[in-house]
Amino acid sequence: MSKIKVATIWLDGCSGCHMSFLDMDERIIELAQHMDIVYSPYVDAKDFPENVDLTIVEGALSTDHDLKIIKTIRQNSKKILALGDCAITGNISAMKNLVGTDAVLEKGYFDLADFNKGKYPSKIVPKLLDKVIPLNEAVDIDFFVPGCPTPADAIYEVLKGVIEGVEVDVSKYTRFGL
Ligand code: SF4
Repeated sequence: MSKIKVATIWLDGCSGCHMSFLDMDERIIELAQHMDIVYSPYVDAKDFPENVDLTIVEGALSTDHDLKIIKTIRQNSKKILALGDCAITGNISAMKNLVGTDAVLEKGYFDLADFNKGKYPSKIVPKLLDKVIPLNEAVDIDFFVPGCPTPADAIYEVLKGVIEGVEVDVSKYTRFGL
């Protein structure tokens, strides 16, 4: 059986869902026999590749860069998996929406800054969107795997299902605030 090409990316999330991926432990070796990781924080690829079979996305969309990359991912991925509650609902990342972008920038660059107080980010820093949004508000998503973080067992079952072409019910892994 040929290997599927898998990418993973971490947008506005805390990396906890990528840590859960690593928590699959020795099962990663089993999965690696059926998939190649072609782009990810786990490997050293610089540009998002073409013709990816599955891209796993952690985190919500908070910046103009996030919006740009998710559209690139959609164009180059057969399937996209939203990994974790930030990607699916906005979750922790979307708490900014309660106060708004201006208040967040003011808190970070005026009130709490120790250095360069009062200097807003340079133009090379991606611009914050007015509102943090989940992935499916920008592009179509094929799989949703919830959790904060997503449990390693759920990630394993879903990846095994994708490899075998079998649909997997992950509702038993859904948990809130645990
Ligand atoms: S869902 Fe939870 S663990 Fe995953 S990126 Fe968001 S805050 Fe982190």
